[in-house]
Amino acid sequence: MGNRPRLRDDLRELAGYHSPQVDVSVRLNTNESPYSPPAEFVAAWTDELARFPLHRYPDRGANALRAGLAESLDQPANRLFCANGSNEVLQTILLAYGGPGRRALVFEPTYALHAHISRITATGVVEGERDTAFRLDPDAVTVAIDEHRPEIVFLCSPNNPTGIVDSPATVRAALDALDRNGGGLLVVDEAYGEFAPWSALELVSDDVALVVSRTYSKVWSMAAVRLGFCIAPSWLVDDLDKVVLPYHLSVPTQIAGRLALRWRDEMAGRVEALVHERQRLVARMEAVPGMTVFESGANFVLFRPGIGSAGAPLNEASGANPVADAGQHLWEALLGKGVLVRNFARWPRTDGCLRVTVGTPEEDDAFLSALEEILEP
Ligand code: PMP
Repeated sequence: MGNRPRLRDDLRELAGYHSPQVDVSVRLNTNESPYSPPAEFVAAWTDELARFPLHRYPDRGANALRAGLAESLDQPANRLFCANGSNEVLQTILLAYGGPGRRALVFEPTYALHAHISRITATGVVEGERDTAFRLDPDAVTVAIDEHRPEIVFLCSPNNPTGIVDSPATVRAALDALDRNGGGLLVVDEAYGEFAPWSALELVSDDVALVVSRTYSKVWSMAAVRLGFCIAPSWLVDDLDKVVLPYHLSVPTQIAGRLALRWRDEMAGRVEALVHERQRLVARMEAVPGMTVFESGANFVLFRPGIGSAGAPLNEASGANPVADAGQHLWEALLGKGVLVRNFARWPRTDGCLRVTVGTPEEDDAFLSALEEILEP
């Protein structure tokens, strides 16, 4: 075809976001809940859906869902905004507050979608750095904000893929520095917030430019439904409502999100069980010779095998980075044993690192056995 429309110049170099899926028996690579939602919830959901007049548009303001969520979080309903997954929440925030000539600051290594969605919305991306243990101290945040003067700052707590929980002092430092530099919005992505010992939710008010985003994709066992939300000042929610498409949140999604709240206690029990399971996983992984296991406040653990310890010969051609090679070999060896984890071995700043999602005890045992067989032959 001769006259194809031209893609936006700024998107030409942009690679799509991919998380490779491989058909294996033990999939511990995408941080979902290992459990499906309670059967009683699914029955209540499909029952209510069957009674809904599907020829009608959904409630545009998702008011019942927002009211339910607000009550469960002890917040006013006008501080709630819901969308198709928390990624869409982040996209909506960037549509409203990002765009050409504006900058979003991310602290690497972090969730790749923060930079990716920024670029899609033509928002410039500037980077700060975590330290070698992937911690982010308040001073580093202040220095980066003073240097870049961004319109938007992303924190991710617990951080994906490292698992580190940012301290209240780090979050406050970001808010103070933004304020001192003439204003700007702090977005704290708490996709894994339920697993963490504290939440930035306690700092949200109408007087603070802070948004906390959450998702139903992890604890709530509903990654397939696509539902995320944020808690934000009410004026910010009004701004998001200006840019989001009308009727973007389908009726099945709205009903699912509202009904699920009835199973809150059960979900809190699942969080507790997954945290225990994570502790068991970490203890066994730390016992593997040469292994570095990073501290995690989430339902996944980042780890790095020792150099040359993966039980596979180093590939001579790529021997320039033995740390990355060790991680790559381990990832391949795990896959060979039917266990899929997320491979960050060749990513910048996470050389040699892999990330395992906490699964069922059986899945975790399969992972641990495979790991021990490969690294302790
Ligand atoms: N934020 C973080 C840190 C995540 O890890 C994920 C999922 N991988 C998301 C947001 C997006 O989740 P969802 O769109 O499914 O709500």
